[in-house]
Amino acid sequence: MNPLEICNVTDKNLAKFPKKLGSIGNWIQCRGMIYNEKDDNDAGVLCGKWRRSPLFVTQTDNWDCFCSVVWDPFHSDCAVPQEIETDEVMKHLKFVDLLKNRLNKTNT
Ligand SMILES: [Zn+2]
Repeated sequence: MNPLEICNVTDKNLAKFPKKLGSIGNWIQCRGMIYNEKDDNDAGVLCGKWRRSPLFVTQTDNWDCFCSVVWDPFHSDCAVPQEIETDEVMKHLKFVDLLKNRLNKTNT
């Protein structure tokens, strides 16, 4: 199985993705679990880190930091700290929502 399938990334939309990251992007929260490998009884904790993503990538129930390997290999690991404060991410997301609403309106 292609691991990128759970990330909602297909070759088709990757082809459309520009090489250089634009200033406008989406943010997706990691739903992966982090386990303490030294402890067999560890129940794990939710990663919950926010990762920058292209606009065409949407949040899924099993989205994982690994999924960002395609556009941001540096942050594609749960061990890597979140890029910016969650407060800042929320501000970005509000802006993206606003933008999407505006685009939807002009399309219809
Ligand atoms: Zn993660």
